Amino acid sequence: MRKQVSGIHHITAIVGHPQENVDFYAGVLGLRLVKTTVNFDDPGTYHFYFGNENGKPGTLITFFPWARGRKGEIGDGQVGITTYVIPTGALAFWQERLTKLNVSYEIIERFGEKYLQFSDPHGLKLELVEREEGENSQWEFAGITADKAIKGFGGAVLFSSNPAATGKLLTDVFGFEQVAAEGDFIRYRSPADIGNIIDIKQTPIGHLGRMGVGTVHHIALRAQDDEDLAAWQDELFASGFRTTTFRDRHYFKSIYFREHGAILFEMATDPPGFMVDESFEELGTGLKLPPQYEPVRDQIESVLLPFEVREPNID
Ligand code: ZN
Repeated sequence: MRKQVSGIHHITAIVGHPQENVDFYAGVLGLRLVKTTVNFDDPGTYHFYFGNENGKPGTLITFFPWARGRKGEIGDGQVGITTYVIPTGALAFWQERLTKLNVSYEIIERFGEKYLQFSDPHGLKLELVEREEGENSQWEFAGITADKAIKGFGGAVLFSSNPAATGKLLTDVFGFEQVAAEGDFIRYRSPADIGNIIDIKQTPIGHLGRMGVGTVHHIALRAQDDEDLAAWQDELFASGFRTTTFRDRHYFKSIYFREHGAILFEMATDPPGFMVDESFEELGTGLKLPPQYEPVRDQIESVLLPFEVREPNID
């Protein structure tokens, strides 16, 4: 049987000031900051991971906050919209919460589902949709209870410069099933219960996106372990994609490749996860550095901007 990927592992984006990023994803959206580390390729920049209570793959959004970075442009070759799934019956709570916190939103419909669409403070496009599938998050913060909390990704809307080729990658290589077509979108589904639905916009925007603040950098799909990652690397190679070699991201291993619609994909292993260097209770609270940067910790800490995880003021 053809290999099938079990949905999204994480989505990584570039944003602005770290405090504004933390205030939005932890404070407004109620996600848990599960890891505070640095960009392993640029240790003067944070790398934040937000997810459910234990940072399960499929719930993870990660950020490189560039406080003085150049603004990017959303366009082809990117994740255009990141979709979060909430428990059924929670949409009204979120409408009220976003209103109280001055986050303007629109309500749209796609494939018979109602979506609350809004942007984060740096321009990333997000949406919330109610679905039955996926476990509830157990992280309760800032007045968001488990029956309302974001469960993780519903999926993503891809802006591809070659929608047919990107669709073919999903079905022919990753084992997604094409389940519906409506208006400008084709919907693909993987067997996972979270991070499992990808919609590809069929009309390209007409210009490639430009990397910078407010844009998604890449989307990562799940590999079970190192062996599975190697098998995916072979599978991709056989389908004509050249991937990078294995990269050790400390919390997972990964490979990267750019597909024919210009989107940067990664495949990342589920293990070892975020408890390799912090306990469940401590997750996200300390600045964790990979061994090669420990000797220069003082220097790194002196250039990183301080921030805190805090609840928003709701009047
Ligand atoms: Zn990644």
